[in-house]
Amino acid sequence: MPATKPALRMALIHVMQETDTFNPVPTTLADFQRVALLEGDDVLKRIDPHGPIAGYLAAVDQSGLPVETLPVLRADAQSGGRLTRPTLEEISNRICARLGRLLPVDGLVVLLHGAAAADGVDDVEGYLLSRIRTIAGGTVPLALMLDHHANVTREMIRRSDLIVAFRTQPHDPYDTGLALTTLALRLVDGHLRPTIAWRKLPMVTHQEQYLTSRGPMQEWFDRARELEREGRAVTISLFPMQPWLDVAEAGWAVVVVTDDDRGEAEHLADELADHAWLLRDRFMERESCDIAEAIDFADDPARQTVLISDTGDSVLGGSPGDSTAILRALLERPRRHRALVPVTDPAAARRLGTHREGEHVDVELGGWSTAFSAPLRVTGRRGAARSGVIALDGLPQGSVDMGTAVILDTDSVTMLVTEHPGVGGIHPGIYRAMGVEPAQYKMIVVKTASNFQYFRGITTTFVRAATPGPTQSDVRSLPWSRIPRPMFPLDQLETWR
Ligand SMILES: [Zn+2]
Repeated sequence: MPATKPALRMALIHVMQETDTFNPVPTTLADFQRVALLEGDDVLKRIDPHGPIAGYLAAVDQSGLPVETLPVLRADAQSGGRLTRPTLEEISNRICARLGRLLPVDGLVVLLHGAAAADGVDDVEGYLLSRIRTIAGGTVPLALMLDHHANVTREMIRRSDLIVAFRTQPHDPYDTGLALTTLALRLVDGHLRPTIAWRKLPMVTHQEQYLTSRGPMQEWFDRARELEREGRAVTISLFPMQPWLDVAEAGWAVVVVTDDDRGEAEHLADELADHAWLLRDRFMERESCDIAEAIDFADDPARQTVLISDTGDSVLGGSPGDSTAILRALLERPRRHRALVPVTDPAAARRLGTHREGEHVDVELGGWSTAFSAPLRVTGRRGAARSGVIALDGLPQGSVDMGTAVILDTDSVTMLVTEHPGVGGIHPGIYRAMGVEPAQYKMIVVKTASNFQYFRGITTTFVRAATPGPTQSDVRSLPWSRIPRPMFPLDQLETWR
């Protein structure tokens, strides 16, 4: 009788936060606890069906290999400001302590974002990977998942044997977790010799051309998929870095993985870097219009409901969600139709929470976190209030905690004032949980520049307003201090090389 193959011991680590370094509000351990901070077996007790861990488990299942999954830690926070240093140390220490107890392992599957920064640490993922390597050793195969908005660094490349990033915007974490794990198991099982070639591009462009389903981004991403289909690479990851990351080593990247073919990997990495560089002016084409124009477009009776994208205050991009720029314009000059507007303001939410439903309240709202927008005095009727977690269909994290949330109505606007940014009003479920039906509104402000998919049941029409803020499209006027120069489009640059 053949001896039974011993199970492959695979350690699983998942840390996700996307940092907007222009948002001064620090990210703390409480921000992780609000979304997910789980250790050991608890990681597998609360699995998001759309998340990368579900993809990991599907790949293990499909592989037919005996695999023992050793969950280490899952730490998930919303996009926001830099992590405080104690938060980063706490997360790394917890990973190292538990991983140390689980050794030896045959492989590591590490699911990270790639654009996290902390106080004094520009490259959080590189730091985590080096801490993991210190515990696990330099030779255990390590497969790394990244968001394609990651800032790929030398440290990330040095510490990883395999990298797979998201293929689409909006993202596909389940499929990416599955693809990464499938390759990781081939590697651990001795059937793959990954060879990585990578290129860094001095580019930082705005988010309006970031959808992979159209325009230059589609062209670039489609080319990578074509090369994979032709079998010229095992996996290719393209990284249009999220543009609000003022860190050393910032810039776009290309990562090509072949099966032991150095020449082809280098060749394809050059080709794909050239391709992005050739498209650079198209990546800079703007679609956003000024605020008044965006409101006029949305208010036009010939149109159905319109989403007004508050591009400068994109909560999913890491902004605090407190901008009053669009709200001010809506209140100053009421339009034909009513608008729905989310505002993050911890102090105002708590104050409104102390009033009774139906009461008329005068409150100072928003504009508290950055110099990009100013607070606004609003008098309105206090509507429903609630606090705690709201389950949301289709959202990667499955639910959201906005803290205290209160509805405030004026004649022309319904505001959702929340203690925490939540999802920035991008999901109709948050309004329905407050007894407000968004389908009855003609104009819906969403604090995102790309994630309009949750409103599909109500509308697919959107207009991007060029608002100022930590996620603004005008990358040239952001207060850069750390990114490498020269950098396109901030400087004149003839070549990426
Ligand atoms: Zn992303």
